[in-house]
Amino acid sequence: MKELNKVRRFIYNCKKCGVCGNKVTAKVPYVCPVRQASPGFEHFYARGKIIIAQGVLEGRFPLSPDLITALYSCTLCGNCTTQCGTTDSDTGEQMVATTKIVEAMRSDVLAEHPEWVPESYRQVLRATQQYDNPWAMPRASREKWYRGLDLIDARREPADIVLFTGCTIPSSPELSERAKKAVMILNRAGIRVGVLGKDEVCCGSVQRKIGDKACADELMRRNIATLNRTGCSKVVTLCAGCYTTLHHEYKAAGTPLSATVCHIVTLLSELLKNKKLTLTRSQHRTIAYHDPCHLGRHAGIFNPPRDILRAIPSITLVERRATREHTICCGAGGGMRLFEGGRLAVAMGEQALAAARQAGAHALVTACPFCETNLAAAAQTSADPLPVFDIVDLVYDALGA
Ligand code: SF4
Ligand code: SF4
Repeated sequence: MKELNKVRRFIYNCKKCGVCGNKVTAKVPYVCPVRQASPGFEHFYARGKIIIAQGVLEGRFPLSPDLITALYSCTLCGNCTTQCGTTDSDTGEQMVATTKIVEAMRSDVLAEHPEWVPESYRQVLRATQQYDNPWAMPRASREKWYRGLDLIDARREPADIVLFTGCTIPSSPELSERAKKAVMILNRAGIRVGVLGKDEVCCGSVQRKIGDKACADELMRRNIATLNRTGCSKVVTLCAGCYTTLHHEYKAAGTPLSATVCHIVTLLSELLKNKKLTLTRSQHRTIAYHDPCHLGRHAGIFNPPRDILRAIPSITLVERRATREHTICCGAGGGMRLFEGGRLAVAMGEQALAAARQAGAHALVTACPFCETNLAAAAQTSADPLPVFDIVDLVYDALGA
């Protein structure tokens, strides 16, 4: 248990108090989305996972296939760590981090007993080896969506800003429309972005969450080399998972990414503030914004998307009870859509939609293709479906003539 040993301090700092499963406040209706959507037994939330990790570390629980459910039933959303709030009084650092413990155990199981890892996860890892992306999408698909658009092939010409599309967006025609709209919005602001075509490979977030560190590190090394070669000063992502991965991991790599990284919401809010973009077309909607965990809790980007939505004429923004750092995961994090056919992921998406309805919203808006896909899947199963949008759609529609 090489990786688990590295995070043992997080295990032993846990007081086993159960706050990560039971806390309720005005802003916290519940802590763990998996516990809420599942039968709720101890191993479905943080304390149970930490007790299991401690048992494995001390040799009291044999590592066995029976532990797989505990390991993979976690969105790695980090709300348990936020609500636990156990910090070192000297340094202010988190003393317990369930996500690090779960990731370490997944890594050890994949290294020592890959046959125990559910086939859906192994399929993603095989697809990555073969196609450089988790969805087995032919490499050429990365170049299809932008045909006819006004942008720069950053591999051949200088581009100051490069759009990192990610794998999920070009994998579907509907999501590809999002990338097209983003390029057209930026064109309207006088910005021509560069793209990397099929030389962009998966950011490595999904593979790292499944436990394949070596694969994620290799993808990171390739993307950093490609991006640094372009000489760009800024990389813009459309996906919250890509943003966190590039912003935190690529910047901390041995040979780091030289450009700054921003998510499209930050760039759009700056363009609106500087009057490079104006939103004039009214949209009479009452909406709630779903903070993607990677963008909100993990990166502190809470205000830019709300500033954008408030800039759209006639939109009324309402907040759910659990919002900003308390947000409840959409259900797609940590590879949960691959777990048991996505059943729990969709149930968590339904919880997120129900909370938006309770807040009086008539639509839910997010800024991540993973959130959007899972929330839309949940809306399809609902008797009272709530429309789900990406923020780029709303900005595009509000641009006017
Ligand atoms: S992770 Fe934090 S909240 Fe949960 S049992 Fe441990 S100390 Fe308590
Ligand atoms: S990371 Fe999220 S899903 Fe996983 S145990 Fe913590 S609160 Fe639950």
